[in-house]
Amino acid sequence: MNYIATIGLEVHVQLKTRSKMFCASPVEFGAEPNTHTCPVCLGMPGALPVMNHDALRMTVLTGLMLGCGIAPISKFDRKNYFYPDMPKNYQISQYDMPLCTNGSVPLHNLAYPKDAQKNIATPDKEVHLVRIHLEEDVAKSFHFENSTGIDFNRAGTPLMEIVTQPEINSPEEASAFLTALKQILIYGAVSDADMEKGQLRCDCNVSVRPEHKSALGAKIEIKNMNSISGVRRALAHEIQRQITLLESGEQLEQETRGWDDVAGATFLMRTKEFAHDYRYFPDPDLPPVKTDVLVAEMRERVPELPKAKRARFVEQYQVSPYDAAVLANDLELTRYFEAAAKDAKKPKNIANWILNDLQNALGGAGKAIHDCPIPPEALDELVNLIDSGKISGKQAKEVFAEMFVSGKRAAAIVQEKGIEQLSDVSAIEAVCDEVIAANTKPVADFKAGNVASLNFLKGQVIKLSKGKANPQIVGEILEKKLKK
Ligand SMILES: [Zn+2]
Repeated sequence: MNYIATIGLEVHVQLKTRSKMFCASPVEFGAEPNTHTCPVCLGMPGALPVMNHDALRMTVLTGLMLGCGIAPISKFDRKNYFYPDMPKNYQISQYDMPLCTNGSVPLHNLAYPKDAQKNIATPDKEVHLVRIHLEEDVAKSFHFENSTGIDFNRAGTPLMEIVTQPEINSPEEASAFLTALKQILIYGAVSDADMEKGQLRCDCNVSVRPEHKSALGAKIEIKNMNSISGVRRALAHEIQRQITLLESGEQLEQETRGWDDVAGATFLMRTKEFAHDYRYFPDPDLPPVKTDVLVAEMRERVPELPKAKRARFVEQYQVSPYDAAVLANDLELTRYFEAAAKDAKKPKNIANWILNDLQNALGGAGKAIHDCPIPPEALDELVNLIDSGKISGKQAKEVFAEMFVSGKRAAAIVQEKGIEQLSDVSAIEAVCDEVIAANTKPVADFKAGNVASLNFLKGQVIKLSKGKANPQIVGEILEKKLKK
C-alpha cells in the first residue's frame, strides 16, 4: 500500500533586534548567564512592558516579503500557563489578531538537500502559510546532574512564529522549505536564522494516511528541532514508524514526541494532547497596534528576493540558471559577484571563477566570503587578463593561487613572474618566420598534407618564445603563412 505524509511546520525565528521585545535588555548570543536581564524580563511584579518597534517592523517586513496580508490592527495577548522558565506565568503572544496572515514560501531546486535535487516531486512548489505572529521567548533551562539552572538572557527575546499550512509531503520538502525561508529571512536582515544558535527552531506536525483514504491520520508533533538535517531525518524516521504501526493494524493517536539525534529516533514525550486552555486574553499593559504607517514604511524596504535575483542574474549577466541559483543561495556571494561583474565584459567567466576556484580556495582555507583575501575588483582584473589573452588559463590558476595567499594584484604577479603571454601579432609573426625558415622538412610535410606537422611547428614557436607565445595566435599565424 502507498502512504501519503502530511506535514505542517511551526517555525520560531529569533529577530535580529538589539534589545528584547518588551524591555531595553540587550539581545546577545553566548553572554554570561543572567547578565542581560531587568525587572521586565525577569517578570517582577509591577514591571511594565514597552513594545520594541524594531521587532514590529521586522515582522511586518517578513510578512511583506512572504506576500502575507498585514492586519490593519493587531494586538498582544497573554497565554497563561505555568513553567519554571517563565516567572510571570504567562507569555505575551498573539492569539486572534496576529500581525500577518496567509502568504507563501516558494521552494526552488537548490533549496532541497543535494542528494534529493534530481528527484523533486513538485518542482517550483509554494508552501502556503497560515499566519505569522510575534511573541516573547522564554528563558532557557539547563539540566545538570542534580539540579536545573535557568538562564534569563533569552527571556523576552523577540520571537516570530511562522505557521505553514499542512501541505508539505516529504522530509525533503520540509528541508527545502526551511532552507528557502532562511534565505529570505537573511535577505531581509530580520534574522541570522542560525539554527545552531537557536535562532531558528521548528516543531513538525506529521501524519500519514493510506493513499486511497482522504481523512488525515492522527497528528503527531515532533518538538524543538534545531537543525535542518535533523528535521529531515526526524521526519523520515517518524513517517516510517507510523507506516509500520499502521501496517501492523495499530491505531495511531495524537501525541507529542521528541527527537534523539544520536539514536536517530523519535521518542514519546506525552500522549493525550488535550487542547490546552491557555485562557488567552488581551494584555492590558499593551495597546493594540495600528499598522498602516509601519506597512508604508516597510514596503519601501522589501529587498530583491532570491527568486527575483536568480532571474535577474540570468538576464543581466547571462549566467546559467544553475549558477544564478548557487550564487543567490548566499547573499554575501551575490554581493561579491555583482561587485566583480559590474564592469566585466564577460560576467559569466567571473561567475565561473567564483563558483569554482574561489569557493574551493575559501573552503580549503576555512574562510567565508566576507574575509576573502581577493577583493572583487581584483578578480575582475584577473579574468580580464585571461579574456584579453595576456595570460593562459593555466597561468591564471597559478596567478590566482598567489593572489589568494599574498593579496597581491594579478598584474603585479604576472610582471614579477615574467609569465605574461605574448599576444602581440607582429612579435609572434617574427618568431614564426624564424621557425619556418629553420624547419624546411616539416614545412614541406605540412604543405604535402601532413596536418600533424603543424603541431610540431607550433611547439617550436612556443619553445623559441620561452613558452610565452599565445598558442591560439601561433596556430592562426602559422596556418595563414603556410597556406600561402
Ligand atoms: Zn529586560
